[in-house]
Amino acid sequence: MDLPKYRYETHLHTSPVSKCAKASVSETLAFYKSAGYDGVFITNHFIDGNIGISPDAPYEEKIAFYFSDYEEALRLSKEMGIKVFCGVEISKGGTDFLVYGLDKGWYLRHPEISEMEKSSELTLMMDEGALIIQAHPFREARYIDHIRLYPRHVHGVETINACRTDFENDMAKLYAQSYGLLEFAGSDNHAAGARPFLAGMGCETPITSEADFIARVKNSEMDIFTWDNTSSSASAQNNMKG
Ligand SMILES: [Zn+2]
Ligand SMILES: [Zn+2]
Repeated sequence: MDLPKYRYETHLHTSPVSKCAKASVSETLAFYKSAGYDGVFITNHFIDGNIGISPDAPYEEKIAFYFSDYEEALRLSKEMGIKVFCGVEISKGGTDFLVYGLDKGWYLRHPEISEMEKSSELTLMMDEGALIIQAHPFREARYIDHIRLYPRHVHGVETINACRTDFENDMAKLYAQSYGLLEFAGSDNHAAGARPFLAGMGCETPITSEADFIARVKNSEMDIFTWDNTSSSASAQNNMKG
């Protein structure tokens, strides 16, 4: 199957907001533009994760810093000719969730999320219209004590995360299919063009907003694709939940 005409990166980190990211906002946008993407969702680590600001900073200051890379990307979007959308990756001890559809104003109005149980926070966000995807649900790593699953508090899961093994992704797919969760894909790219394999979501008509994206994902109107950046070959699959 051919690649979708309009391709989107759904899971993307930039420096300095994500402490672990290796690439700046402008390097990142330049890479995705050159790779023919229509747009990217910037999903840096939120203030509960690996963010490049002190945990002791006041909440408003942390939120302002958090959105600074996204805002820089928005400013560069037009001149670089690539769309930029807002996302967030929230975290609990190495268990990560991608959140789409809530903006800076929403986070400024909801400082209470810092004190909430993750399941309550996810429920609040879903009630407020967010799309919630558990990232790499079967990721195993030294710094992760155990795998945590939230089958009743997410819309979907990453069944392809370009940084994980086939085994971890296959387990995620089995999990999604068993629980009737949406299947979703992203690269978890921390290094712009230096990332060898990518994955994302695509469609045949352009995405116009976060709300448009959320509606299409929920209606299974987007396709997962993968892309080998080392050989520039790609493949797509129609494996969204029907
Ligand atoms: Zn990271
Ligand atoms: Zn990530």
